[in-house]
Amino acid sequence: MDLPLLEQTLRERGEPAFRARQVWEWTARGASGYDAMTNLPRTLRSELAEVVPFSTLDVETERESRDGTVKTLFRTADGHPVEAVLMRYRDGRRSLCLSSQSGCPLTCTFCATGAMAFGRNLTASEILDQALHFRRLTQVDHAVFMGMGEPMLNLDEVLSAARRLPDLGITHRRTTISTVGWLPGLRRFVDEVGEPIRLALSLHAADDELRSRIMPVNERYPVAEVVAECRRQAEATRRRVFVEYVMLAGVNDAPEQARALAELLGRDHFKVNLIPYNPWAASVGGEADARPNTPPTAAGAASVGGEADARPNTPPKAAGGLYEGSSRDRIAAFRHELERARVPVTVRLTRGRDIEAACGQLAAAPRVRRRSAPSSQPAPARRPAAGAPRSRT
Ligand code: SAH
Repeated sequence: MDLPLLEQTLRERGEPAFRARQVWEWTARGASGYDAMTNLPRTLRSELAEVVPFSTLDVETERESRDGTVKTLFRTADGHPVEAVLMRYRDGRRSLCLSSQSGCPLTCTFCATGAMAFGRNLTASEILDQALHFRRLTQVDHAVFMGMGEPMLNLDEVLSAARRLPDLGITHRRTTISTVGWLPGLRRFVDEVGEPIRLALSLHAADDELRSRIMPVNERYPVAEVVAECRRQAEATRRRVFVEYVMLAGVNDAPEQARALAELLGRDHFKVNLIPYNPWAASVGGEADARPNTPPTAAGAASVGGEADARPNTPPKAAGGLYEGSSRDRIAAFRHELERARVPVTVRLTRGRDIEAACGQLAAAPRVRRRSAPSSQPAPARRPAAGAPRSRT
């Protein structure tokens, strides 16, 4: 629901100030539409239904995994794809994985979202509507901003959405915002966010040379600065920052790399989450042609040379196909090294892989279907923060 539009509509109609809150409370508790809001005058309900669409997002497809994970592909009103995931765990936990952007302007070489065209930042309402969609299906209690996009490039809208999640049943302590380490946003997060929202850092390599090769953003914001900023957060909040580390066979999974990681992080401020690599090249398939095959930096180009085929119209060879996931033994050995160094570590349970809903597998064709007239170009609601890499469309 477009909340600014709701408020404006109610104001123009001369409604009392509490109306917007009433509508929001019903919505946050999983109401199926305005009709269900029985403490609102009937005429107001039908007028709202006409003027303020109940959701800013249309559901395009929804798939359910064998493990109960649900992945939904939405479209914004101007045609951008957005994916979000509901994970249901045996212990009853219901966790949402939310997107902050349609696509992503960063180009992490192992991530499917980075291989699709970047669309735009999502508004707070569009982020909340992902969560509200699942709230209408079930109670929810956790949320991670680990879907499409880089939250720190869209921090204001992400925070504005995160601040309303408690109304859906998701407390700040059960909300996690994940970042590649985009420093301008990350600094603001550390300085400005008073709520106990958890921070997660997608690190994936402990040294600049390797990290720049697999995550070009590292050229701009190197490991030491990013880790220092996260340490500042851990000290200020006395809560550990989660470190995500995707296990790529023969790339970042050697025991000495685990020791270097332990050395970098220390015992007190971080908890490492080892993520089994989720393959995606096959699933992205023809859609990957939106990816300019040349990585944005020279270092990146050199490193992923095999897939750096910049010729137009050649069949896409997605970067995801470059990698293989580390074996279980290799992951166990890596974990063991961290444990020996007394760095807290867990191995992430992979969910929803059979429906391409697992980490790094979210990607969708940029413009399959558009509701608005084909001539109208979707205008970005908001540009990425100054200094953001240019869209790769
Ligand atoms: N841009 C933010 C939010 C996305 S989080 C960030 O990167 O932190 C998505 C997480 O999934 C990140 O930790 C990302 O590195 C990880 N990931 C990406 N591709 C993956 C893959 N193919 N397999 C497993 N994890 C992957």
